[in-house]
Amino acid sequence: MDSNKQMAELLFGSITKTPEDYEELYPERNLNEGAVVTRFAPSPTGFLHFGGLFASFIGKTAAKSTDGIFYLRIEDTDKKREVENGVSLIVKGFEDFGIEFDEGMHSETEEKGVYGPYTQSKRTEIYQAFVKALVEKGLAYPCFMTEDELAAIREKQEKEKLLPGIYGEFAKYRGITFEEAEKRIKNGDEYVVRLLSPGKEDSRIKFKDGIKGEIEMPENILDVVLLKKDGTPTYHFAHVVDDHLMRTTHVIRGDEWISSVPIHLQLFYLCGFKAPKYVHISPIMKEENGGKRKLSKRKDPEAAVSFYSEAGYPEGAVWEYMMTLANSNYEDWRLANPESSIDDFKFTFSKMSKAGALFDIVKLSDISKNYICKLSAEEVYDMVTDWAKENNERLYKLLCDDEEYAKAIFAIERGNAKPRKDIAKWSDVEEYVSYFYSELWDGKRDFADNLSKDDMIEIIEQYKDIYDENASAEEWFPQVREMAVKLGYAKAPKEYKKNPDDFKGHVGDVAGIIRSAVTGRRNTPDLYEILQTLGRDEVISRLDSAIEILKG
Ligand code: GLU
Repeated sequence: MDSNKQMAELLFGSITKTPEDYEELYPERNLNEGAVVTRFAPSPTGFLHFGGLFASFIGKTAAKSTDGIFYLRIEDTDKKREVENGVSLIVKGFEDFGIEFDEGMHSETEEKGVYGPYTQSKRTEIYQAFVKALVEKGLAYPCFMTEDELAAIREKQEKEKLLPGIYGEFAKYRGITFEEAEKRIKNGDEYVVRLLSPGKEDSRIKFKDGIKGEIEMPENILDVVLLKKDGTPTYHFAHVVDDHLMRTTHVIRGDEWISSVPIHLQLFYLCGFKAPKYVHISPIMKEENGGKRKLSKRKDPEAAVSFYSEAGYPEGAVWEYMMTLANSNYEDWRLANPESSIDDFKFTFSKMSKAGALFDIVKLSDISKNYICKLSAEEVYDMVTDWAKENNERLYKLLCDDEEYAKAIFAIERGNAKPRKDIAKWSDVEEYVSYFYSELWDGKRDFADNLSKDDMIEIIEQYKDIYDENASAEEWFPQVREMAVKLGYAKAPKEYKKNPDDFKGHVGDVAGIIRSAVTGRRNTPDLYEILQTLGRDEVISRLDSAIEILKG
């Protein structure tokens, strides 16, 4: 047996499957040409962040638009950083935003798809089979360096300003013989398995990133760790093996990984795999004090995905917003195609920001208002109730107790050419509908201050007399106008402006008092529709109580 083979057997005697076996087990996918196979590959270290949701949105969009595959792989090789129920937290975060994975984990223990297991801790034997093959070819070796030795190397490299890592003179175990390795292993010495990098110090590599374009970097010369002391893989090695065997075509990930691309491309090459396309996403930025900084998990509540579901931004509005962050030409497209589905937009990696998209909550809010104002009353009802069920019990109960009434409220000024944009998120709804519900309304009245109390009382009393719940929308305002004129108000603001001394005010002031008396507010959607929704008894009772309040 040649000595590399002997070494491979020594290290991985129990591994019987070969890379060829796995190639057969996970064949090329049978998809259309150009289909994007991509993944989201989080470590289960806590809740889902906006950056992760954004990267997933990009992955899902790219896969969907090419009839490809988007899958969820759990990268749990670092057991120290893991949190309990980490996978559930991630899956729940996605569910709230309607992201569905075609394959991969969908709960702590369940997965779908035939390219699994989709959890790295369940793939140890697979990684070992591939490392074994590298050892057989003399491309990997066991390294027995102790923590102290490694620390001494780090210190020397720092002091002499050398490239950090294990290479050249620092790669002490590069030429280790089978005999020495065997002796040490028998002795119980711990070891990692390192790559024997064929990289040359002055060579450079080039690759084309989907977002950043052509990139040139020094070739990798480091003997990076492939398997840790406990036999589990490093990120570098797991990435290469998994993305090959899961037949990933596009690796979409954060741009903190760009500096590792030379290692990854070298590993793909040495393992005999075709490298995927890389798409490195810049971090989402936020404006602060005139400058820009990364959206921070620690400082920014909006960095947690739960922020959006708790506030109640509808999923469709968050998608719209994400697409504006993703492709700068989306907004123009949306203006030109207001009725089209977001899926009709041609998303491209190359139009993504190289510098990092700027997060803007005001813009999200505007987009969300636009989105919500186009929904039907039924859709609004369903979405608000869904949200309230988990986030606002009181509202949930009110909405369910009288579904028809709630839908009538949401129907006010909806479905016309210029719908109102009062609601940006479902947590705005309680305040928006409050005066329709005695349980929510405090009964306080905010009256305009340009009329005397007596004038206001007169208006409300008169209105009580002429109020006709059977009047149509067309009849209603002329009735108010007629009453206003009788009481000494101008029939239009223009007329009042011309001769202000001839009038107490104008019809708008009169309608304003009725509005405040009935709703408590100076500003509301269409008053006629509100009166019709409240119904006669409630309107009269509110007019009465307003008079009482004014009389003090
Ligand atoms: N587990 C890696 C991370 O969370 C994934 C990077 C990748 O997508 O390859 O950063």
